Amino acid sequence: MSSTSSIAGRKLVLSTLLETDHYESLIKELTCTKCNKYMKTPIYLCVDGHSICGPCYEKSYQCHICQKEFALIRPMVLESLANKVLFPCTNVGCPKHATISQLEKHGPSCQYRIIDCFMARVYGECTWKGRAGEWMDHCFADHKQKVTELPFITVKDKWDAKRTEPVLNYFLLKCFDRIFNVYQIYDKRGGRMMWTVLVNDDQAEKFYYEVDIFLPNLLCKKIVYR
Ligand SMILES: [Zn+2]
Ligand SMILES: [Zn+2]
Ligand SMILES: [Zn+2]
Ligand SMILES: [Zn+2]
Repeated sequence: MSSTSSIAGRKLVLSTLLETDHYESLIKELTCTKCNKYMKTPIYLCVDGHSICGPCYEKSYQCHICQKEFALIRPMVLESLANKVLFPCTNVGCPKHATISQLEKHGPSCQYRIIDCFMARVYGECTWKGRAGEWMDHCFADHKQKVTELPFITVKDKWDAKRTEPVLNYFLLKCFDRIFNVYQIYDKRGGRMMWTVLVNDDQAEKFYYEVDIFLPNLLCKKIVYR
C-alpha cells in the first residue's frame, strides 16, 4: 500500500468514527447541560459530580440538576478531553470537525452559517436569509445590478446630497477566483467620497484598484486615482 492511500484510509476511518452514535454520545458528555454549548475549560463540578461550563458556573449559585453546592475541585480528565476532542460545527449541514479553539475561528467564515442578505443593509428591500455559501448565487439571481464577474464596475448614479446613509453603494466583483467587496462611502462630516475594496485573501496587498472619474456626458477621462 502506498503512503498516500494509507493516509486516505486513515482519513476515511476518522470521518466514519466522527459520524458514529458512539462519538455523538461522547460530544454530549462534553456539552453543558445548562446552556447546551460545548464546554471549554475551565469546567466545574457540583459536590455530586455534575459538570457545568465556566460561563454558566459564573452565573449560578448551585447545581442546576441537584441544587447542591459546587465542589472546589475541577474535572481534570474532562477538561483535557474538552481540549482534544474534535467537535462538530453546529451549523446544520457543515461537515467540519475541529477542536473548540479551531471552531471559534471557523465560525465567522463557515459557509453553512445562516446570514441575512447584506444587500438589504445597504439598499433595503431584500428578505433573503440562508447559508453564507449560497449568498453569492442569490446575489447573481436577485441583485444583478450589484454583482459582476468582470473586474470593473461603472456607477452612473446622480449625486443625492440628502442621503444620510454612509454607504452609498455596495458591489460584489467575482473575478481572479476571489470575491471583492466594493464600497462607495460618503463621509458627510469630512465632505469626502471614499472607495474601499475588501477581499478575504492572505495576499490582498498584491491587488490594487483604480477610480476613473468622468464628466457627465463626456467620455474623455477626467481624473484617474490609483
Ligand atoms: Zn453552560
Ligand atoms: Zn449536581
Ligand atoms: Zn461550519
Ligand atoms: Zn438579497
